[in-house]
Amino acid sequence: MGKPFLSLFFSNNSAGVEILISSLLNMLFPEKCPNCDKPAGGFWIAPFCENCWKDIMPYKGPLCDRCGKPLSSEIAHICHECLKKEPFFVRARSFALYKGTMAEAINLFKYSGIRRLGRPLGRFFNYMALPQVDAIIPVPLHIRRLLHRGFNQSLILSKVIAKNSGRPVLINVLSRIRDTVPQVSLKAHERRKNVRGAFTATSAVKGKNLLLVDDVMTTGATTEECSRVLKKAGAKGVYVLTLARAYEL
Ligand SMILES: [Zn+2]
Ligand SMILES: [Zn+2]
Repeated sequence: MGKPFLSLFFSNNSAGVEILISSLLNMLFPEKCPNCDKPAGGFWIAPFCENCWKDIMPYKGPLCDRCGKPLSSEIAHICHECLKKEPFFVRARSFALYKGTMAEAINLFKYSGIRRLGRPLGRFFNYMALPQVDAIIPVPLHIRRLLHRGFNQSLILSKVIAKNSGRPVLINVLSRIRDTVPQVSLKAHERRKNVRGAFTATSAVKGKNLLLVDDVMTTGATTEECSRVLKKAGAKGVYVLTLARAYEL
């Protein structure tokens, strides 16, 4: 019974099968790179092509020692904001600037649900000096946004770091208790106000050095508020690591 059915499927209907497979593949791997229209690269980096993916380079210019903000000159070591008010975190660093392929990849990962991009993106953290920490904490999403998106991009990135560093990821330790307007639509002072009181942390962080992980850091309002809450819950030190830094020089 099985043999005739299979032979029918593969010989007579092979064109149909091919169309089915190729349309499935096209769904999984859109053919064109969104940057340059060339064919997409391998499974993990698709829809980007190999060349555009290689364009993602670490930021090596001058930056604030404390918050990692890119600076326009090598002379200053601490930015104006950090001098005015010391951050709650020890140090914040980002792999690259939020632009080009990096920005597009983060957006596709986050907003278009191309979850597999989390792994190659997370691997960029391997090129960074990781601080000595006891545990990794992803910046949490509010449950409503988590249900809508289906995953927390910061948790996926945290898991890649955990795999390479051997440090555990602590989930449900830092939570977002208030849903907030997306920070991207707000000005700097509005961002701070927007996230104020949005997070809570449990005493599980007491005495620990923590690595707080997020995808993008812009004004730092979210990471600063998370750090404040973690410190208040007894964390010894909070280090911040993000994939990209959005900036305006
Ligand atoms: Zn390309
Ligand atoms: Zn700074």
